Amino acid sequence: MDCLFCKINNNEIPSYTIYEDEFVRCFLDINPISDGHTLIIPKKHFTDINDIDLKYLCKIQEVSKRIVKLLNDKLKPDGIKLVQNNGVLQEVKHYHLHVIPHYNKNKKNKVEDIYKIIVKN
Ligand code: AMP
Ligand code: ZN
Repeated sequence: MDCLFCKINNNEIPSYTIYEDEFVRCFLDINPISDGHTLIIPKKHFTDINDIDLKYLCKIQEVSKRIVKLLNDKLKPDGIKLVQNNGVLQEVKHYHLHVIPHYNKNKKNKVEDIYKIIVKN
């Protein structure tokens, strides 16, 4: 199947992965709305909210708490929004949850620089 996010899961396309486990991968959005904009995807292909298994949906929600904590700790945003698009709103047809930090003073750094800040201890 010709799916961009399946290719990221298979390491055929590089990504700024900040967390992964058996069920999910979390990586920085390549065209971020803000610093630390992260996508959480299942390691199995599901198209959207109609299609996804409950087990994977729950795993993604579980990991979203971890990612929110990580972004809060490392980037200190003023707020964080979680968004999941379906139908005509969805560009990439592999289920993904956006985790989007908000900053009162919007700063926009390079994704690779944000990646270094997030992954360093
Ligand atoms: P959506 O409109 O919800 O389908 O969002 C798709 C998101 O995937 C957009 O925010 C894109 O910037 C992001 N995106 C597309 N290609 C890549 C990629 N290779 N690596 C990381 N994010 C990507
Ligand atoms: Zn896929």
